[in-house]
Amino acid sequence: MKLHTKIFIGLLAGIAAGALLAMLQAGAVAAYVKPLGDIFIQLLKMIAIPLIAVSIMGATAGFADLKKLGRVGLKAVAFFLASMALAVSLGIVAANLFQPGKSLDAAKREAIQAGIQAESRRQQPAAAPRAGASEFLLALIPTNPFAALAAGDMLPVITFSLLLGLAFTLIAPAKRERVLELLDALNDALVALVKGVMGLAPYAVFALITAVIAQFGFHFLLALLEYALVTVGVMAFFLFGYYSLAVALLGGTSPLTFFRRLSSVGLLAFSTSSSNAVLPENMVSCEQKLGMDRGVVSFVLPLGATINMSGTSIYHGVSAVFIAQVFGVALSLQQQALVVLTATLAAVGTAGIPGIGIVTLSMVLGSAGIPLEGIGLIIGVERILDMCRTVLNVMGDSATALIVDRSEKRRERRRSWV
Ligand code: ASP
Repeated sequence: MKLHTKIFIGLLAGIAAGALLAMLQAGAVAAYVKPLGDIFIQLLKMIAIPLIAVSIMGATAGFADLKKLGRVGLKAVAFFLASMALAVSLGIVAANLFQPGKSLDAAKREAIQAGIQAESRRQQPAAAPRAGASEFLLALIPTNPFAALAAGDMLPVITFSLLLGLAFTLIAPAKRERVLELLDALNDALVALVKGVMGLAPYAVFALITAVIAQFGFHFLLALLEYALVTVGVMAFFLFGYYSLAVALLGGTSPLTFFRRLSSVGLLAFSTSSSNAVLPENMVSCEQKLGMDRGVVSFVLPLGATINMSGTSIYHGVSAVFIAQVFGVALSLQQQALVVLTATLAAVGTAGIPGIGIVTLSMVLGSAGIPLEGIGLIIGVERILDMCRTVLNVMGDSATALIVDRSEKRRERRRSWV
């Protein structure tokens, strides 16, 4: 049986087991199976940083083409930003169109707020980090690369690996060959490790989903049904509409093939809610199942896992308008434009780990003068929305990598003809 089929069975079995535990009001039992899921996520995270460092170093040392590197980076960042801005805008338009906040009258709102007070106190998001452009740029350069590696800070690790990879192109060719050989061997070993850990995936997905469903407050889902449906609906439209079109037109690949070959990546994103945890499997799948160039994959995917969050952008857009509607705050066109801008930046600043999107949402609300208490209102459905937006975040990275990869290949073909 194929791995993604097994993962899917794990997911369905997890839903059934979780629902059964919730019905029997025995949600606490889920705590006994969850550690298996946590171990799995930890194992994947353990591989992510070494894999990124080794593959970026190997790819740049082998590239020896600074211009190509710059082009790949520019294309990827441009597509990331355009997709995120479009995603927030669509979220805002849909929330204005369907007005999910209007269905929530004062009585319902108070009931939800009372019901989640305890929970929201526990999960109250920390103040959103605010950073200027210069601080952002400075943060890209690690003062101590080993500290960045140890802390798992993706962007400084990318910068250091890129620079060291480039430096390898400047040393004596014989030595460079030896380094390349070593990096290649390390890369192969890390990929083998990813494949080994993925053997656990079906059981881990079962454990994670059982825990989520068993503890999920279904009464929140009912009260916030319209809001959740609009958010997930826009996400589905973006995934199967926008990215499918982009994959077909710009990536020259059938969307069916794209989604089928990356189905285990999508299922994993849904079950773990963490772009970072899915990164190793995404890198291996994009290279081996979709034939993308290792140089492009190892550069675009880690960058995307850190800055490209189109699912989070949609969530920010819909949530901002929804909360404004519930609290009766009329948003001018100017304020909505501000939401597009801050939500895009907030999504860039969202780390690829579970539940961070709701923290960065406070930045968006603050900038448009929308009451921050609104966050307490939507916490009840946070987890399920996090699972969905992570799928979009991750698949958006893979789609961008494919588009950049195919455009580079077209360029190489054109150049070899002339
Ligand atoms: N969980 C998301 C991710 O890892 C980030 C978010 O909370 O929006 O991609």
